[in-house]
Amino acid sequence: MYKLTISEKEKMMQDLDYKTHQEYKYKICAEPLQRNTFQDCYREQLVSFFQMAPLINKTVPLEEADYILYSNPYARVQDFSDSVLKELDDINARRKSTAEIIICGKATNIKHILKDKYENITYVPSHFAEYVGKRFELDFKEEYVVYDDRNGFLNIWPVDGCLNKCGFCRRTFMDIPFESQPIEFLKEKLDWYKENYPEQMKYVSLRAENLNQYGLDIDGENTTYKVIDLLNSYDEIKYISIGIGYSVGETNEKLKESLAKCNKIGDIVLYPETGSDRLLKLIGKKHTCAMVKEFIKFLRTYHPNIVIWVAVMIGLPTESLSDIEELGNLLMSCDIDLAHCNYYGYVDKHPLAVYPQISQNLKEYHLKYLINYIKKHYNKEKILTLRHETFYDSSKRSVVRELEQIKKEQKYTKGRILYGETYEYFCGDDIVVKSHQEITSQDKLEEEYDKVVTKKLLTK
Ligand code: SF4
Repeated sequence: MYKLTISEKEKMMQDLDYKTHQEYKYKICAEPLQRNTFQDCYREQLVSFFQMAPLINKTVPLEEADYILYSNPYARVQDFSDSVLKELDDINARRKSTAEIIICGKATNIKHILKDKYENITYVPSHFAEYVGKRFELDFKEEYVVYDDRNGFLNIWPVDGCLNKCGFCRRTFMDIPFESQPIEFLKEKLDWYKENYPEQMKYVSLRAENLNQYGLDIDGENTTYKVIDLLNSYDEIKYISIGIGYSVGETNEKLKESLAKCNKIGDIVLYPETGSDRLLKLIGKKHTCAMVKEFIKFLRTYHPNIVIWVAVMIGLPTESLSDIEELGNLLMSCDIDLAHCNYYGYVDKHPLAVYPQISQNLKEYHLKYLINYIKKHYNKEKILTLRHETFYDSSKRSVVRELEQIKKEQKYTKGRILYGETYEYFCGDDIVVKSHQEITSQDKLEEEYDKVVTKKLLTK
């Protein structure tokens, strides 16, 4: 059975053209959904939105539609609710009086702000591809095991949502339904790939918002070990990347046993978030610095060549230079390959908003202080890379403004991400500082990823 590839679905999703649209029994406008799809996260695109791509060539202009599909990432680094209100206002003003607006996914969080402002609105927080498919007699539904031919990875999303409320996270002001996929269901999907496209199973990317809460809703406890054991049981799978969602503070012994046994894990991203237990407590994380160190040591013991990335934030409220030194000490004492050090992104709905905030200048100073501190004290032979992403043009720092700009410039094509990066490499006394100020497009950025990291991962 031939299935459309993700590139084909992506292309279909981009090809919105009212002049060539196919007649369909339901008059549906999916343009407001389509426009925001390209700014949404990878999971939403592959699990749901791209699965709905065949709808695009049936789309009619908004003014003629009986049904209008709408989506919005709602929150990425910052709160997008104002954009959602603006876009819904515009749709409401232009729609036929009888047309129904169907809000899909995270944008349904607007319900508590919108209240009864407009009539004829349906909210579908999850399984919206399936909902739209059933309602409009189209054959699509969510897919949780998806091969992405653009990067050659088989992506698996075993669980969606997270039950924690860390003080810096969008979880504190938006709801995403929590759902684990039963292990039998995941096995069925993997067996399908084994039967039809075994070569597509070589590289697996295991992804979640909180991987370590897998099973809480269906097994009554964290059973992430079942997912690791399942993946480990396929000879076709050669390499597993855990690139997002591993929570050190929610690691149990069964999971450690499975991780120790599984020699296919090639890389993992961990989220220490900050380097002092005082700040960890303030932001409500479930781990301590000692737990991070112990877990990294455990990984290295069983898998000496695993690539370990960590993500930390600079500029959390109340952060002092002694917190920065503790962070530097944590990064240097753990055997990691790369530390992603971005600034804390303030949102006034975060619980952390009650504290006085660190100014932008002070954040920059803290980052410099961290770099200099590591330069002064790093004495290992192994290369440690520190990466920081920042916007070149400060007028573009607002992600909302950036998205608006992208929409204006590239109405029906893939959005561009405008940001730059700075890398710092440390290796013993031989410190190389490299700036990537010239990187201005996603393509160039991806080239850099290729050179710096991806090749290293895939050639292991
Ligand atoms: S564990 Fe991760 S996803 Fe969950 S609330 Fe904390 S930061 Fe957010």
